[in-house]
Amino acid sequence: MSDLQQRLQQAGVHTLLVQFTDVHGCAKGKLVPLAHLGEVLRSGAGFAGPSIWGTGLPRSGPRSEYYARGDASTAQPLPWMPGVARIVGNGFVDGQPFDACPRQVLQRALARLAARGWTLRTGIEPEFFLLKRSQAGVWLPADEHDRLDKPSYDLKSLPRQLGFLHALHQALAAAGMDVLQLDHEDAHGQYEVNFSFDEALRSCDHLMLFKLVAHHLAEERGMVFSMMPKPFADQPGSGLHFHVSLWAGERCVFDPETPGANLSPLGRQFVAGVLAHAGALCALAAPTVNSYKRLTVGESLSGTTWAPAYVAQGPNNRTALVRTLPGRFEWRLPDASANPYLATAALVAAGLDGIDRQLDPGPDCTDDLFDWPLARIREQGIALLPQSLEQALEALQADAVICAALGETLASEFIRLKRAEWTEYARHVSGWELARYAAAF
Ligand code: GLU
Ligand code: MG
Repeated sequence: MSDLQQRLQQAGVHTLLVQFTDVHGCAKGKLVPLAHLGEVLRSGAGFAGPSIWGTGLPRSGPRSEYYARGDASTAQPLPWMPGVARIVGNGFVDGQPFDACPRQVLQRALARLAARGWTLRTGIEPEFFLLKRSQAGVWLPADEHDRLDKPSYDLKSLPRQLGFLHALHQALAAAGMDVLQLDHEDAHGQYEVNFSFDEALRSCDHLMLFKLVAHHLAEERGMVFSMMPKPFADQPGSGLHFHVSLWAGERCVFDPETPGANLSPLGRQFVAGVLAHAGALCALAAPTVNSYKRLTVGESLSGTTWAPAYVAQGPNNRTALVRTLPGRFEWRLPDASANPYLATAALVAAGLDGIDRQLDPGPDCTDDLFDWPLARIREQGIALLPQSLEQALEALQADAVICAALGETLASEFIRLKRAEWTEYARHVSGWELARYAAAF
């Protein structure tokens, strides 16, 4: 019996939850008795490949089997599922690493950094809603008393969700995550939980664990945990901001070299790459039809939503796509529906391209861009983000750097699935259309 098996057995574990992540960022997996840990580590737990979104695998032959091969370093008992330990799997097909497994896509991107002696650290900040469905099928905040005009940091509603938030905190802490803050966000029924930044792969694994726990704990309380980017048109949406820094050992290579600057020249080049590839990055970081109701240009029904619309960067500027801070930057583009592995991999490819081409991110923007009329934004040469999933997919398809980072299979599967999602949306006839046109002409 291996040391790991012994350790898990001593912790009361009898079953493994072998978990991987599909192209949409959803956790998938199966239960395997602990006695079979050896096989999970050696060859992996087997799945029918074509049954997993985004694999593009055939229905027969050796390439029809998808194996989630356990990464031993991730094995961790799940306190809310007594006796069960989660182990994160990497996709393998026909004995080889599967190029379209999102976790492997990220590992490839991180290997490019490692070849230069660098590691990426990210702090991922999930915002989310706690919802319920009324008897008439209408989606509402789970807490019907959550009604303040300006709900940010609401201390009237927060205590009513203390049971959920505390259980969430305890479960994450027991699984080895360092929870820093939990608060009410700027929409009714919206919250944010922050945990410590970490090595980029681990941060993604942590986010997936967070989603697993939050779904479970919300359901136990009769609520729906939602990472939909913008459930309510008249309220802000849910971002998934990434705090990003690059390290050579314990030295942060983004640390500024001149007083007053936030980033080193290398950090500025990385940011310039993130700005240069902003259109394609949208497809990965804001991957749903609904995402573009968050990234709105101009007035939103709720006033300031704090979601980015303009391709700019500035020191501590939350109205820009990239907010720089000493030795790191906050990438404000991603929303809660993003697959963290793919968003991070695409971010790395963009940043490395900025470094390789020694791009310049342009002057620091210190103005409140949300105050600027569109004409001024255009005059200053500030680009707008894509305004629909369709536009973002076009930008991705035209971006050889980001597509190469995803790999051929994943890029083509992603674009195929997401185009179908867009077409389905564009062709459906909504309640808005009927209300506006049915009796109008
Ligand atoms: N909810 C906002 C967004 O969609 C962000 C609010 C904040 O800055 O924390 O990005
Ligand atoms: Mg927030």
